[in-house]
Amino acid sequence: SSRLLEGRALAQDVWSIFNAANLPSDCLNLGQGYMNFAPPKWITDAATEALNTVGANHYSHPKGRPRLRKAIKQFYGSQFNRDLDVESEILVTSGANEGQYSVFVAFLEHGDEVIMFEPFFDQYLPSVTFNGGKPVYVPLHPPSRDITKPTSNDWTIDFEELRAAVTPRTKIIIVNTPHNPVGKVFTRTELEKIAALAEEFNLLVMADEVYDCLVFDNKEHVRIATLPGMWERTVTVGSAGKSFAATGWRVGWLIGPASIISPTLAATTRIVFCSNSPLQEAAAAGLEQAVEHQFFENQLKEYQERRDIFVDALDQLGVTYTLPEGTYFVLMDSSSVKFPDDYPFPKTVLGRGRDFRACWFIAMEIGVSSIPVSEFYCEEHMSLGENYIRFSFCKDLDTLKAAAARLQNLK
Ligand code: GLN
Repeated sequence: SSRLLEGRALAQDVWSIFNAANLPSDCLNLGQGYMNFAPPKWITDAATEALNTVGANHYSHPKGRPRLRKAIKQFYGSQFNRDLDVESEILVTSGANEGQYSVFVAFLEHGDEVIMFEPFFDQYLPSVTFNGGKPVYVPLHPPSRDITKPTSNDWTIDFEELRAAVTPRTKIIIVNTPHNPVGKVFTRTELEKIAALAEEFNLLVMADEVYDCLVFDNKEHVRIATLPGMWERTVTVGSAGKSFAATGWRVGWLIGPASIISPTLAATTRIVFCSNSPLQEAAAAGLEQAVEHQFFENQLKEYQERRDIFVDALDQLGVTYTLPEGTYFVLMDSSSVKFPDDYPFPKTVLGRGRDFRACWFIAMEIGVSSIPVSEFYCEEHMSLGENYIRFSFCKDLDTLKAAAARLQNLK
């Protein structure tokens, strides 16, 4: 019957709706979080070299290429206060997303619950439900209205709500710090409270730390895996794409105890078998030479300048926004942006929250694209995100300055 050919009724994802391909070609793309500049030449040179090496054009070990696992051990070991074992405690994945998906494949049984703070990076939801899991949402409470210049730290957790969200079926809690889309850098105290709960209820912690190299204002990036007793129950997610301006490479990694890495390796082996070989070599070169190039220090300075230029534009415009302490995202309150109800919105946008229409209107009329934040809420809570739109400032200064100027036309 035709029913057979219907497939699952999945809503179209926000990245496809606001893809540059659907927007005018002169629209400045501050939507999906990817850079409009290349990785440094010394890293792309390493990619070219790998492509000219026979072995690096073929399958890698499903755990990841030995050179990359060794580079991860050497670069991150001290950040985890551990002598990481390259055979059992590091797993290279096809981007951070596939790594997280593989953890869910490995650990979720039908009906297991996964706690995530809301708003949440949108991929978590289908990654959990596709594997039979049930997402459970705990709000990050937005800054109160009387804070005139809120920062991401003003998005807060009610720990009674977090505790109340735990049930006998809770298996995993996702802790995304620095946080997409809020930019929140979880404090040590917050992480200690989460850790205490994880211990009390025997939960696995998925620490999505793909923006670990983007923490501003000398704030501290605390890895929950390093808190007392947490190594054994935490898997930490990393990303070459975020680290080296190479989001299309799809190279990421997981760091954690053998008890988590081993079943996840079995899952990833069946999903992708192994990750992109030549670009694993290039990512290894990036980590090996990062210190001598002072790469992460310089990159952070550049991002801090990008952030400051962009939020200056929002100050000039007179809108409320959340100053991010980490990531390359800024949430803006778009409730003051007016648009005609009869604007020719496409169907993909009409069926969704007000923020979808605001983003569409700003992209078409002002020439700057952004991402509607209700997408980062579950269906039931979408209205909570409707007033926010997210800009990505991982763009060169010329683009950011041009976007800053265009946005003044919203006045
Ligand atoms: N992490 C990117 C962002 O939030 C998007 C990744 C994706 O498209 N799935 O913009």
